[in-house]
Amino acid sequence: MISKFLIKNISIVNEGQCFISDIMFYDNVIQKIGIIEVEPDFHVIDGTGKYLLPGIIDGQVHFRDPGLTHKGDLYSESKAAIAGGVTSFIDMPNTIPNVLTVQGLADKYELASHKSLANYSFFLGVNGDNIDEVINTDTSKLIGVSDDGLYFTKKGNLLADNPETMEKLFANCKSIIAIHSEKEQIVEENENIYREKYGDNVPIEYHPLIRSEKACFEASKRAIELANKHHARLHILHLTTEAETHLFRNDIPLQEKNITTEVSVHHLWFSDKDYHRLGNLIKWHPAIKTEKDAQGLLKALLDDRIDIVTTDHAPHTLEEKQKPYFQSMSGAPLVQHSLNCMLAFYKQGLISLEKIVEKMCHNPAILYRIEKRGFIREGYFADLTIVDLNSSWTVAKDNILYKCAWSPLEGTTFTTKVLNTFVNGNLVYDNGVFDEREKGQALTIKT
Ligand SMILES: [Zn+2]
Repeated sequence: MISKFLIKNISIVNEGQCFISDIMFYDNVIQKIGIIEVEPDFHVIDGTGKYLLPGIIDGQVHFRDPGLTHKGDLYSESKAAIAGGVTSFIDMPNTIPNVLTVQGLADKYELASHKSLANYSFFLGVNGDNIDEVINTDTSKLIGVSDDGLYFTKKGNLLADNPETMEKLFANCKSIIAIHSEKEQIVEENENIYREKYGDNVPIEYHPLIRSEKACFEASKRAIELANKHHARLHILHLTTEAETHLFRNDIPLQEKNITTEVSVHHLWFSDKDYHRLGNLIKWHPAIKTEKDAQGLLKALLDDRIDIVTTDHAPHTLEEKQKPYFQSMSGAPLVQHSLNCMLAFYKQGLISLEKIVEKMCHNPAILYRIEKRGFIREGYFADLTIVDLNSSWTVAKDNILYKCAWSPLEGTTFTTKVLNTFVNGNLVYDNGVFDEREKGQALTIKT
């Protein structure tokens, strides 16, 4: 593998600025940013007219490995991620087995070291069953604990529905507590109303009224109250309503926040107007809500009440999606397309390149205390992606890399394109061609 790279004359988007420079990297890390003379052993890339971004850090994915690998696995989905400019990901615990023990967590890191092309980290799962084990673990060394997705295995696994478990956790946990915030009781009441009317075939248009604004708002409000009471470090996953955005602060820097949140790309991209066209393909938990909600989420992202952008990448087979309402699986694959979605917003004048980089690269590194990644700095890992902001292509079956082989974005034309992605200084993705010799690394955190 050619290991010494020099990119000449590229527009570097980093830390609130966009400037043309050269950049050199080898031995995993960025060695120099500035005017650099070409030396004989350098592999030189002409960056003229192109943009260099830090590799995206996706703070919430479900790569389905182990146990659900008919949907996706650490190899297939990390490959799709890299083609989308994503160089690091944090994966959720609802695999089979669920990651509920320190040993289970270690097993997952071991699996990823053999399979993942991107850099990786994993949440430890937490629910009513393992709460005592979690609070007796030295959680300060973990990237975080989360209940996300575990509610699929058993009702009552949502922390938001278990005030007692949540109090215990908030009072004792030393790591970030990332929760899925919906009140199941409200959801169930709504389900019953629509089931009575439509039986099993509830039209998907009612999904955001079943998994309602109220279910989200009440859960988030309660979680924030509890976190404040115990000075816990709370992160609320995938916010979906404008109403909830007002529960978060933007008067202090991210580094000082005890309560943070995120928006997933699909909750910015789609609205309830798309259910008619896409049906269960855009069925998510929490649900896609109104256009007003999507606009409110974007506004909160821009004014820093929302800290990061994630995908909640959650592949299912088409068969699993295309069932009647109650049986259809929630979630969809997105990790290959998240950067292009955000760049489409940039093209529409809705967000700057600098802000995209802040929310997808810098802030995930700050929020999860990830060492030496997320920024283009000398001495940092050379996790980088080169994008062309004037190249048109359409999402179609033949360019989708997800194992499940479909996307809710099929037919969407993007006018931006990821050309190259470097992971730890290795050119892993080069205009559609992968070099799979080097595997990704485990993310390390500042303790
Ligand atoms: Zn999720």
